[in-house]
Amino acid sequence: MSVKTFSGSFTQQEPIPEAAIEAAVAVLRSGRLHRYNTDPNETSQTALLEREYADWQGAPYCLAVTSGGQAMQIAMRASGVKAGDLVLTNAFTLAPVPGAIEAVGARSVLVEVDENLRIDIDDLAAKIETSGARFLLLSHMRGHLCDMDRLMAVTDAAGVKVIEDCAHTMGAKWGTTRSGNFGVTGCFSAQTYKHINSGEGGFLTTRDPDVMARAVILSGSYMLYERHGAAPEAEAFAQIRLETPNLSARMDNLRAAILRPQLKLIDQNAERWNARYRAVENALAAEPALQTPRRPQAEYMVASSIQFRIPGFGEAECVDFVARAAARGVELKWFGSDDPKGFTSNHTSWRYGPPQSLPRSDEILSTLFDMRLPLTFSTEDCTLIGEILCEVYSAT
Ligand SMILES: *Cc1c(COP(=O)(O)O)cnc(C)c1O
Repeated sequence: MSVKTFSGSFTQQEPIPEAAIEAAVAVLRSGRLHRYNTDPNETSQTALLEREYADWQGAPYCLAVTSGGQAMQIAMRASGVKAGDLVLTNAFTLAPVPGAIEAVGARSVLVEVDENLRIDIDDLAAKIETSGARFLLLSHMRGHLCDMDRLMAVTDAAGVKVIEDCAHTMGAKWGTTRSGNFGVTGCFSAQTYKHINSGEGGFLTTRDPDVMARAVILSGSYMLYERHGAAPEAEAFAQIRLETPNLSARMDNLRAAILRPQLKLIDQNAERWNARYRAVENALAAEPALQTPRRPQAEYMVASSIQFRIPGFGEAECVDFVARAAARGVELKWFGSDDPKGFTSNHTSWRYGPPQSLPRSDEILSTLFDMRLPLTFSTEDCTLIGEILCEVYSAT
């Protein structure tokens, strides 16, 4: 029997669309890269992008910023998080999330996740009680949305403000509502490995004019807030304009020009990602030991990555599985490692925050594997990847 192997790159994104390249060149030719550098009567690329993103997201207000991490920091500050406050967040997420909490001087309270990689709402309710925290930075990590109706009922009843980390759920929905529209703010990333690509970039959306006014000033608006594409009227700034510091985290016109044509493609790309996810998931179903998360009926996913667990595997078996998959060209990340490796880490390596006991999450993460599904893969590639993983497992 010939051994199946795969030769694609797990980090190769699609090229930037030609329309975006042309728009970027036009901005370069103009020399007007800063978002507030406009001709009379010109609306900047950044302001246009904010308007288009707000309309697509279905939120009245949108601010474009330099990264998803900055969007979260600004969202927390604009929502009232102060130094020393406690902020709840998922134990299963990536370093920019606890990093954002740390950067605003707050302290993280980590909440357990369940075997489907969603926040454990019972543990959340218990930790709201015991910690007294009044904020939740909810990370929809790897695109897994929890029961948002139940989560919002729990947080609303307790007066906990929710800030959504939608770095992996741009375009995803719970029921008919887009992720990001449940909490006070939604935070998004346009970094290369997310759902739209400007290298670096981010957005913050909200329905709350006061939160958006503070966010605009925090982003570094030099009092030019009237040149924004989806910000509240000038009155909303009257009170806070001199009381809010400038963190300088503005998006520039070059990146905005690159993103505007991509926004038009995101809904169709979501379907393309989901077809790739289903191809891997179907192939993995041949080996019941490889357990993929159950995707709830109410979730509309944008599955730009896939996760599976092999419960019962020990540490050495996990390390060996990753190595043997790699030898066949399949690049897996493993969340059980004590040592953080390229984009993957677990809470024990976030030493800037207080150490916390999360036995259930530790158990789940100890056998959790993760794979990117770039759109440069075909669905046939994805089937092959799933078949290889089944073979690697059965050769164990
Ligand atoms: C990438 C990412 C972010 C932040 O995005 P950047 O734009 O890289 O700052 C936030 N949360 C999660 C879960 C991420 O993977």
